[in-house]
Amino acid sequence: MICLGIEGTAHSIGVGIVKEFKKKCKVLTNLIKIYRSEQGGIHPREAANHHAIYLADLIKESLKKAKVEARDIDLVSFSRGPGLGPCLRTAATAARALSLTLNKPIIGVNHCVAHLEIGRGTLDGCNDPVLLYTSGANTQVIAFAEGRYRVFGETLDIGIGNCLDKFGRTVGLDFPAGPKIEQLALNGGNYYNLPYTIKGMDIAFSGLLTAAEQYYKKHKNLEDICYSIQETTFAALTEVTERAMAHTEKNEVLLGGGVAANKRLRNMVATMASERGASFYVPSKDLCIDNGAMIAWLGILMYNSGVHMEIKDSIIDQRFRTDMVDVTWRE
Ligand code: AMP
Ligand code: MG
Repeated sequence: MICLGIEGTAHSIGVGIVKEFKKKCKVLTNLIKIYRSEQGGIHPREAANHHAIYLADLIKESLKKAKVEARDIDLVSFSRGPGLGPCLRTAATAARALSLTLNKPIIGVNHCVAHLEIGRGTLDGCNDPVLLYTSGANTQVIAFAEGRYRVFGETLDIGIGNCLDKFGRTVGLDFPAGPKIEQLALNGGNYYNLPYTIKGMDIAFSGLLTAAEQYYKKHKNLEDICYSIQETTFAALTEVTERAMAHTEKNEVLLGGGVAANKRLRNMVATMASERGASFYVPSKDLCIDNGAMIAWLGILMYNSGVHMEIKDSIIDQRFRTDMVDVTWRE
C-alpha cells in the first residue's frame, strides 16, 4: 500500500509518500517547505497562504521524486490537528481534492501520534517507546497505555521550541533560534540559576523565559545564558520523561519534534536511558520535524486497521488531543 500524506499544522507544509513493507515504513519522498515571517513567529493566515501557494507543486514534485504515478496512490492522509485552523484547513482541502480526483480513500490523522508512529515505523527495535515530543508549539511526553496514547506530562504554557525562539527574538537571534542557542551554549559554562518548574508531571517555561531575558539585560553574557537555558529546560524534560518511563515500566525512549535535533538534549535523554538500561531512539532529522511522511504512515496504519473516513467527516480539529485517538492498530 502506498499513501500520500499532507502535513500542515503550522509553519511547515509537507508532502510525504510512503509504502508499507513487511509492517515497516519505507519513505519514498518527504518534501517540506517552511513559512518564515519577517518578524519571526507565525501569522496563521499568512502561513496558510504560503501553504496554498506551494502545495500543488510539492505534490507534483513528490510523485516525480518517488517515481510513483498518481494512480498508484492507494490512500491520501492529512494532519487533522492539533494546529492552526487556516493551515489545517488548507492541507485538508488539498487532501480532499486529491482523494476525489484520484477516487482513493482519505484519512485525517493526529499530528502528535504521527510523531510517535514514524519512530516505531522506521527504527528497528523501537516498538513501545515513551515519546518526548519537543517542537515549537508542542511539548508532551506520550506513551501507549491501556489502549490509548496518553499524555503523561506536557507544557502548561509554551512549547520548548517556542521558549527558545522567543528568547532568541528578545536578544536578536534569527528565527528559528534553537540551533543558534545550541551553538552559543557550546561556549558557555557558567550556570545561572533559572527557574526549574515542574508541577506534578507538567512543565512550565514562561517563568524561565522571563528570568533569562532579565539576566541577559543585566549581564549580557549570551553564551552562559544559552547554556543555562538548555541545561535547565532539558533537565526538566528529561526528568518528566524518566518518571513516565518508570511509571509505565517501558524501556524505550524516542525523541521527536524539531528540538530533537539538539545534541545536548539527545545526550541528556540518552544518558538517562542508559542509566536505566533502556534504549534510546531518534529518527533522522527530516522525520523528526513536521513532515508528510509521518502523516502518510499513520494513515496506512489506521486504514489497515479498518478505519475508514467519508469525505464529509474529513474535517479538521484544532484541539485534537493525543488521547482522543482511538488506537485501532495496536494490541
Ligand atoms: P517543529 O515545530 O517540530 O517543526 O520544530 C521547530 C522548533 O525546533 C523551533 O522552535 C526551533 O527553534 C527548534 N529547533 C530546531 N533545531 C534546534 C536545535 N538544534 N536546538 C534546539 N531547538 C531547535
Ligand atoms: Mg510537530
